[in-house]
This record gives sequence, C-alpha cells and structure tokens, in this order.
Amino acid sequence: MTGWSAPHISARGARPACEAPGPPPARPIVPRRGGPPGEPFFPAFSTTGRPLVPAGALGFASVDFREYQRLSRRTAQYPRAAWLAYPALGLAGEAGEVAEHAKKAIRDDSGTITDERRAAMAKELGDVLWYAAQLATELGLELDQVATENLEKLLSRQSRGVLSGSGDER
Ligand SMILES: [Mg+2]
Repeated sequence: MTGWSAPHISARGARPACEAPGPPPARPIVPRRGGPPGEPFFPAFSTTGRPLVPAGALGFASVDFREYQRLSRRTAQYPRAAWLAYPALGLAGEAGEVAEHAKKAIRDDSGTITDERRAAMAKELGDVLWYAAQLATELGLELDQVATENLEKLLSRQSRGVLSGSGDER
C-alpha cells in the first residue's frame, strides 16, 4: 500500500451525506491481536501461486481489510434511504453470481474450473467482498475485526473439536 495520504475514514465515522434512518450506534470495538508473537496474523500466501491482479497494477500489491474498507467506501454510491437493504441485497446477489459460476462449471465443464471461470469467479468474489465491506460500514463494524472474530471463532471450535455441527454458539 503506497501513495495514499487521504484522511482516515473510520467505518463508524462514514455517515451518510444526507441523513436518513441510520444504523444503530456502533458497539465498542476492542482491538485484538492474533497469531504467535512476531508472526504476521495471516501470511501473504496464495493457494495457486498465481496473482489475480498483477502486482502494482493499482499502485499497491495487496491491501488489508482495513484499507479495503476505507478505500472501497469511496465508490459506494447508493440511495441513503436504502443504507441497509442495498448492500444486503447486493451481497446476496453477488453470492448468487458466484454460485451461478459453480453451477455452470458443473453443467458446462464437467465440474472443472477453467482459467477463464476462475478469473470470472475472482471478480465475483471481489464483488461479494465489496458489499460485505459496505454493509459492515453501514453497521458501524470494522471489517478486519469481523474477519478476526470469525477466524477466532473457527479456530476455537477446531481446538474444542466442534468445528462440525450446527448452531452459531458452540
Ligand atoms: Mg458481480
């Protein structure tokens, strides 16, 4: 991440230009740390070894959740009156587009993923992330904390042997 010097836009501070019924007050956000001391919380690795976007294409090779949430907000244009429904519906719609590709891979490509479809699915997953980020912002949530808490939840379940099963509270 280089070159940006724009003022910080916190998720909780990103209020609508014209006030419509707004989200509830943000809950207190407690900074958390994860991973072994001295280790990055998550390593910069790729499961395929192939970058989805050429490094440096946008002036930076990677972006963390906090920066993504802040920068993506600049492109959020939807009616303030639909501050909750718009990103929620968009999130569901883009998830549907991901699923549609999965279906077409089964229907048209014997369940294999072509390079073209992988690239298309990468874009749709990006769209999912965009709507998730906007919804988090509307709710006064920090996307990186959402991700961290999800990971902590899953790792806790794994360590307690309850990764499989059902119910959010386990
Ligand atoms: Mg899309």
